[in-house]
Amino acid sequence: AKADGRNVYRFYHDELNKASIDKFNLLQLMRKALKNNEFQLYYQPKLQLSDQRVIGAEALLRWPQADGSMISPDEFIPLAESSGLIVEIGQWVLQQACLACSRWQQQGYDLTIAVNLSTVQFRDGKLEQQVQQALTAAALPAHSLEMELTESLLIGEGDNIAQQLSALHQLGIRISIDDFGTGYSNLGYLRRFNASRLKIDKSFILSLCLSERDEPLVRAIIQMSKSLGLKTVAEGIEDSATAAQLALLGCDEGQGFYWAKPLPETDFLGYVSAELMN
Ligand code: C2E
Ligand code: CA
Ligand code: CA
Ligand code: CA
Repeated sequence: AKADGRNVYRFYHDELNKASIDKFNLLQLMRKALKNNEFQLYYQPKLQLSDQRVIGAEALLRWPQADGSMISPDEFIPLAESSGLIVEIGQWVLQQACLACSRWQQQGYDLTIAVNLSTVQFRDGKLEQQVQQALTAAALPAHSLEMELTESLLIGEGDNIAQQLSALHQLGIRISIDDFGTGYSNLGYLRRFNASRLKIDKSFILSLCLSERDEPLVRAIIQMSKSLGLKTVAEGIEDSATAAQLALLGCDEGQGFYWAKPLPETDFLGYVSAELMN
């Protein structure tokens, strides 16, 4: 179709540009992977810091390769975004994540699911409809679904996204601002985009117990978040000291390698049921 034509054009004109040819190949491979259902979702447990109870999971995209290796989302999501393919991939993610969470709830686990959203997914104005469809197909209540949007991606985005987010918010979906602290951290965004959660970027959490500079910053973010009536989430918690310090600072929720890496669904459920027995 149209997009293919443009990429073929680019391919011929940048023939000597190896990076561009690699991108062309990568895009073709991504299309094929989506068609053949090669992508997988991994689930990282999210915990309530006060009692370390598992309350949900973040769905993270994985692309397994024939040789057993894994292409990291950081390597293919940027191209999926610039090519527009993220719209279809993102829809697949939404559907799969809702189905998974619904399975967990049917097994009696009271868990929520968070998915990462690209602002490109707002461009055609069909996101609300896609979300509705995913929820209905999975029979999942809207309040069980959380959407994580990266702060830096919202910068410069206009009323269009704010309006669509407001509609999603009205459905009962929770909106969370991801990677908080790395962009401009404009507080106006929190209100404008109907956020109910603020996720402190892992760059501040990874060194929280090592660097004296991070503590006042993290403390300030948590206090500000509280005074705005938002929940605070910390990602990148790798040890018990960091978990304890964040709980002390009043951070509500957390996730990190200290508890678990992103896991395939069976392993995630194994983790959850083991935690419940403790
Ligand atoms: P993110 O949304 O900020 O996700 C958190 C990343 O931190 C994940 O990397 C996760 O594996 C990693 N992480 C979690 N706990 C720890 C920890 O304790 N220590 C360290 N060092 N890292 C930790 P991952 O899975 O490689 O994902 C990278 C990024 O790719 C994500 O960052 C997100 O921006 C993007 N991404 C992943 N899945 C999707 C998706 O389905 N859609 C979209 N649009 N983006 C996605
Ligand atoms: Ca995220
Ligand atoms: Ca993040
Ligand atoms: Ca990130």
